[in-house]
Amino acid sequence: MQTALPPAVLDTPDGREADRILRSCVHCGFCTAVCPTYQLLGNEMDGPRGRIYLIKQLLEGQPAGSETRLHLDRCLTCRACEASCPSSTRYARLLDIGRERLEATVRRPPKERMTRRLLRLLLLRPLLLRTAIAAGRLAAPLLPRRLRLQLGRGRKGAVPPPVQGHRRMILLRGCAQPALAPEIDAAAIRLLSGLGISLEALPGSGCCGALSHHLGAVEEGRALARRNIECWSKALKDGAEGIIATASGCALHLREYDWVMRGSGEEGAAAGVAGSVVDLAALLLDEAGDCLRRRDGVPQRIAFQVPCTLQHGLGEAATVRRLLERAGFTLTEVREEHLCCGSAGSYSLLQPEIARSLLECKLAALEQGGAELIATANIGCLLHLRGDSRLPVRHWLELIELCPEGTGPGLS
Ligand code: SF4
Ligand code: SF4
Repeated sequence: MQTALPPAVLDTPDGREADRILRSCVHCGFCTAVCPTYQLLGNEMDGPRGRIYLIKQLLEGQPAGSETRLHLDRCLTCRACEASCPSSTRYARLLDIGRERLEATVRRPPKERMTRRLLRLLLLRPLLLRTAIAAGRLAAPLLPRRLRLQLGRGRKGAVPPPVQGHRRMILLRGCAQPALAPEIDAAAIRLLSGLGISLEALPGSGCCGALSHHLGAVEEGRALARRNIECWSKALKDGAEGIIATASGCALHLREYDWVMRGSGEEGAAAGVAGSVVDLAALLLDEAGDCLRRRDGVPQRIAFQVPCTLQHGLGEAATVRRLLERAGFTLTEVREEHLCCGSAGSYSLLQPEIARSLLECKLAALEQGGAELIATANIGCLLHLRGDSRLPVRHWLELIELCPEGTGPGLS
């Protein structure tokens, strides 16, 4: 694609990166066919090729306003387009640059600004969030069914005592997950403890910053990333083997910390942290080998909902699938697996109608193969699906355990 970005834009690292990305796009439209919002809305401007064009216009200095923002806001950042692009166009990076510029130049209406601020306020303050969730659970009978199911009942999950040994890993304590589904991190701690690895969240670390980043509060997102980078870099130097994030959305954001911190002078430390994020499924497959099995009481026939961050972002969906099969599960067929469920971080709250339509399609696809349970790998997807699903929805970590010593899946 030909570009004519003005020198003032090309003089910046983001401007040069955007120009490079724009020029890599050959306008073939392969990406349009896999875009969920294009499929749903049928408008070129609600597909990747149209959005790329809108960002090009914006960076070239052409007038942009609420119409441009509407189409960029409707993007789920699911990256299905990026995964299907024959030219390896880095769409998600271009979208980051475009959104950041738009946020700085076109003011949102007060209601939108307020909603976004409230979301950040609630999700980034653990005490406030826990209080709100506890109040919601108390008032559960009065709440709409969907919200009631999303809040759940607050299972804790048994956490084994700390492992004594030399192997240590760092756990990312996310924002919403510890309050809404602590059983997921508990399952990771239990599994790693069985391998003699202690997994702990470090004081001074916290939310990965993805939520702020995607809500346009880029500096807030960088401040959260910086806090983690400082804390974890020290622990990694002191012998921690790696960093584990049990939500695929957070894991992807950590893997891209060097991009998040671009231009800050801290890219080196950020890249060190990004490179230390561990693929937990691969680790369990490597180290537990044939010793993985289905937990008691968990059905054998399940549907795996592959979060976009896991398949298009991290590229680790096949590993989780292999692990579940190795543990003895039968995975049912799920049609159009590449399509987003509509959760996409805070998207389901900000674009509820599109999110709802995508959820209905996803649930139909997950339920068609006769599964008895839906497994996922991301807290956002889990909550979004759980609100409407007829089947139980759980994180894959909760479904497996290590065989007692001397047994295997076929022997236990
Ligand atoms: S598939 Fe890639 S090259 Fe083709 S239009 Fe989409 S982004 Fe551009
Ligand atoms: S990220 Fe997803 S929603 Fe956005 S343009 Fe690409 S395919 Fe469409």
